[in-house]
Amino acid sequence: MLIDSHAHLDSPRYADDREAMLGRAWEAGVEAVLSIGIGESPAEMHQALSLCREFNGRLGLPRLYASAGIYPHSTVDADNKALAKLDALLAEPEVIACGEIGLDYYHEGAPREVQRTGLARQLEIAAARRRPILIHCRGTNESTDAWDDLFPVLDEYWGRTGLGGIMHCFGAGWEQARRSLDMGFMVSFAGNLTYPKAQPLRDVAARMPMDGIQVETDAPWLAPAPQRGERNEPAFVVQTARTLAELLHVSEAEIAAATTKNFNRLFHLQPNVGN
Ligand SMILES: [Zn+2]
Repeated sequence: MLIDSHAHLDSPRYADDREAMLGRAWEAGVEAVLSIGIGESPAEMHQALSLCREFNGRLGLPRLYASAGIYPHSTVDADNKALAKLDALLAEPEVIACGEIGLDYYHEGAPREVQRTGLARQLEIAAARRRPILIHCRGTNESTDAWDDLFPVLDEYWGRTGLGGIMHCFGAGWEQARRSLDMGFMVSFAGNLTYPKAQPLRDVAARMPMDGIQVETDAPWLAPAPQRGERNEPAFVVQTARTLAELLHVSEAEIAAATTKNFNRLFHLQPNVGN
């Protein structure tokens, strides 16, 4: 059984078939999904938790967990009210992670300084609530600029907490992967691992230790081949796991076992507790 460590289940693109979509994930062998609570703005941060409460306990669906966080582009709205909401959400047992948070210099929806300050404030809240973090980091084109700014912030605010986290939808090089592992982070691969032009990323994945990997969909975006271009959904995480298995020369079952074990270890979850 696989865990999709990152999906935006609250997307309006699932409005018409959310339960059926989750059923397809279960049928495909997905036992749990971490539903990302960023919404379109901090006002929607609670939506992932709402989905946990709506669907957990129903038969034939994956177990849902939630995160809450203020996305880099939304840090212009990271005022005291939004941060208080984040703090309250992280106190809920289903909200196991703070994210996705980080730096995005590719789209730069908020000024860089605002992004860095918003990230630091959220790291303080996540540390106080003892919640691992989900990091979104994307530089300008091929540059590592966002990563070069990210690591000092993590060093200052996060390293000493020992809580770790996940580098979500990893797309950087081995240097960034190695530094992430050294800081106690796991590196999560998404559907772009399967794309023809992603050979540099596959080369990074091929060097990963089994205790440092995660898989995810980032649904509804970034559908893996052969569904590329379609709406993504957690069932498709199987394709990414298959590609990762080939790169690491292990079976798909071994990828599933390792990523599930890693997920449970990071978030201090009991394995196989059921829905
Ligand atoms: Zn995401």
